[in-house]
Amino acid sequence: MAKSKQLSKKNTALIAEKNETAMISGILEGSPDGIGVVIVRLECGCKKMAAVSKDGEAASKLIMYRDQADSICSKCKEDNGHFMRVTEEFIHWQKPEPSDSEKEKINSKVFGTMPSTS
Ligand SMILES: [Zn+2]
Repeated sequence: MAKSKQLSKKNTALIAEKNETAMISGILEGSPDGIGVVIVRLECGCKKMAAVSKDGEAASKLIMYRDQADSICSKCKEDNGHFMRVTEEFIHWQKPEPSDSEKEKINSKVFGTMPSTS
């Protein structure tokens, strides 16, 4: 495992980076059912995002992108951003945020049952 990736200060909650928030608002704009956006960061620097509905279902298409690049890296093209290479994943909630119990339910639905891509 890559030791150099260790963060010096660990935040208790992951929050969207500035360059991600533009993507997030774009996704939510196109997804009326979306109450949040799932953000998956991969070790290669590419990201996956998709809106999630209050039922924990996908409310938009899955988007893969890479900051400051025209396309995702060749590795992601090959394995579609395999979950083994995921470094961080969390949901950015739209305001007003759902209650903690709702968030927990959606979180476990989204991250507890990762669809296996073959
Ligand atoms: Zn990649």
